[in-house]
Amino acid sequence: MNLTTFYTLSYGLYIISAQIKKKKNGYVANTAFQVTAEPSQLAVSCNKDNLSAKVIAESGFFSVSVLNQDASKEIIGRFGYKSGNDIDKFENTQHFETPEGIPVVTEDCVAWFSCKVVKTVDVGTHLLFIGEVLDGNFIDEKKIPLTYDYYRKARHGKSPKNAPTYIKPSDEKVSEPREQKPETTSGQKWICLVCDHIYDPAEGDPEAGVAPGTPFEALPDNWVCPVCGAEKADFEPYNG
Ligand code: FE
Repeated sequence: MNLTTFYTLSYGLYIISAQIKKKKNGYVANTAFQVTAEPSQLAVSCNKDNLSAKVIAESGFFSVSVLNQDASKEIIGRFGYKSGNDIDKFENTQHFETPEGIPVVTEDCVAWFSCKVVKTVDVGTHLLFIGEVLDGNFIDEKKIPLTYDYYRKARHGKSPKNAPTYIKPSDEKVSEPREQKPETTSGQKWICLVCDHIYDPAEGDPEAGVAPGTPFEALPDNWVCPVCGAEKADFEPYNG
């Protein structure tokens, strides 16, 4: 089948958070959605391999923070592409705790909800947590919520490997032929090992002031992956 048809399903992008024994964790998800109005219930999908699945299951609570369209690549990289086993994602992130002890990210977000898990459905690779909404409010209602479509098209973002919507770059290529780009002195493409973003010298990274035609080797040492914030050392040559 043509896997890119999945891109026609529209989603938002959210940070889902939970805490157990003073250990806070959170992840970026596009699969957070309202399932009923009376009572208000939200569902979120979480990969079983993610630390967050364990933290939500054991605590019985989670929060949903709605990212805004201008959310920084640092916060998306921190929560979307790094593991809470390696870093404390909340250490340098604006957040607060609800009376139930649920951490809620407020940085770069439009609104938040706190939820109590009322049902967990095992859907294979992922757990679907259904939560009754306890509370919620705006953080900055003037901001526009970030959609998955905008993230993918305007910001060239990719799904992390554990996301329900992840598509391998090699599969994507079959269905989405790219335009011919002019040859550069070093046309070698490089792939980010953290998020699969591909640096194409023909395109450069205009948002970071890198002109089209700039080989990877010529990027400044402090250049970082425009999607997840990984360093140059986290890239390797890509010949796919
Ligand atoms: Fe990356």
